[in-house]
Amino acid sequence: MPDCIFCKIVTKEIPAKIAYEDAHLVAFSDINPKAPVHLQIIPKEHIARVSELTEKNADLVAKLVMTANRLAREYGVAEPGYRLVINCNPGAGQSVYHLHLHLLGGRPMKWPPG
Ligand code: 5GP
Ligand code: ZN
Repeated sequence: MPDCIFCKIVTKEIPAKIAYEDAHLVAFSDINPKAPVHLQIIPKEHIARVSELTEKNADLVAKLVMTANRLAREYGVAEPGYRLVINCNPGAGQSVYHLHLHLLGGRPMKWPPG
């Protein structure tokens, strides 16, 4: 296994505020939140970045997005709205190389992002 901070959250070597967990996914609060609600939804499997997903990951991707949608409802940000973000590679601001879907909500969001 690579020396990966999010793998260590999966194995509980590093503590995190877990919002949801099942056999395939973990969702937890971001350590440096950029919005009142800022969760990370990640696969337990180490996949470094979104561009590495293949057809065999189709079910996993669906689970990531469906879980984010459900958590948005549970955290009360489904209305008026929330943002799901996946940064890929340094040019887009990816800093942790374990696939993660940001769920951001609870404040107005600007568009386009910076
Ligand atoms: P990226 O910049 O790769 O799209 O997002 C990485 C996110 O992971 C950032 O929002 C950052 O605050 C969060 N993060 C980095 N290290 C940790 C950690 O150890 N624990 C938690 N909960 N979040 C982290
Ligand atoms: Zn990892």
